[in-house]
Amino acid sequence: MRIVAIDVFQVDLPYSGGTYMLSGGRSYDSFDATLVRITANSGLQGWGESTPFGANYIAAHAAGVRAGIGEMAPRLLGADPRMVDRINQTMDETLVGHLHAKTAIDVACWDLFGKSVDMPVCDLLGGRTSDPVPLISSIHAGDPDDMKQRVDGFRAQGYRGHSVKVGAFEAEGGPRLDAQRIRASLSDSRAGEYFIVDANGGLTVEHALRLLRLVGDDLDFVLEAPCSTWTETVSLARRTDVPIIVDELATDEASILRLIADGVGDGIGLKISKNGGLTRCRRQRDIATAAGLTMSVQDTVGSEVSFAAIVHLAQTIDAKFLRCALDVRQMVSTSTGRFHSDEVDIELTNGGVTAPTSPGLGVTVDTDVVGDPVASWRS
Ligand SMILES: [Mg+2]
Repeated sequence: MRIVAIDVFQVDLPYSGGTYMLSGGRSYDSFDATLVRITANSGLQGWGESTPFGANYIAAHAAGVRAGIGEMAPRLLGADPRMVDRINQTMDETLVGHLHAKTAIDVACWDLFGKSVDMPVCDLLGGRTSDPVPLISSIHAGDPDDMKQRVDGFRAQGYRGHSVKVGAFEAEGGPRLDAQRIRASLSDSRAGEYFIVDANGGLTVEHALRLLRLVGDDLDFVLEAPCSTWTETVSLARRTDVPIIVDELATDEASILRLIADGVGDGIGLKISKNGGLTRCRRQRDIATAAGLTMSVQDTVGSEVSFAAIVHLAQTIDAKFLRCALDVRQMVSTSTGRFHSDEVDIELTNGGVTAPTSPGLGVTVDTDVVGDPVASWRS
């Protein structure tokens, strides 16, 4: 099997909740998605997606995804898409870094791989567990009572985890407002629920310590990505007994190994495009499992193709280590495809979803929505 065509598509994905507010005054109304379609000489096609969370979340931006693919695509024509490590080696030899660009290609290769051998991606990644994948909601920062209402709404839909965003400026309330947000969001928490308090790297150590002191010690949550630098995170981790989850600073194998060596974090946010696609995430999953770190499988944002990659990877992680997966579909109001069954629809009875059993990612992209390619390469 060899790659004979690579096509790139651009889709705008409006945020489903109006405006998404993040620490540091960052706000987002819409997300710029890139989808990649890889065609093999057999006629089979695979799809991948990479949708950055704006340009000021991590070192990734939508135009960069497409420019990066443009650097790599000509070198990939003729390669066997099923040899995923060799595909990634070629990408790394062509372009340093730019994991967000490599992700869309890598995921499309896994989709093709699965279709070529009639197996779902989760089984190629090691095999599905028997447990449903619990979903987590994304609660953007706002008024504490409004945040509580949104948690209630997701709970009623069957979500078993909630990622509560904090990071208020000093002038708007600082640690005191953030503590109120946490208390309100967790006020009706119940057994079996998992709460992440996520600052997306927006706090100083001082803010985080004041915040934790104000919240007290009677609530069950983990603190995710409190600070933007490694040095600050190490400093904070040594002065609090609240579990620290590393997200934006855990981007590859090297940073996860550093996290383990420094004893800084208790879990990681494994975001498919931040962490470089399914081939790299598979390796990082195994490192994290060996080190006893918990994992939240997510992506920066995205539509059905991104969600498919998330749920296939999450489905392979032992329930002891898997805390949650993010249903990025819930964050955007445009749908780029449909799943072949309702397996990925959340079930109120078991609070989770199940990875598709059909070959590849198990999602059919809606070509009317993605439109014509913005760039193409043919052998
Ligand atoms: Mg996070």
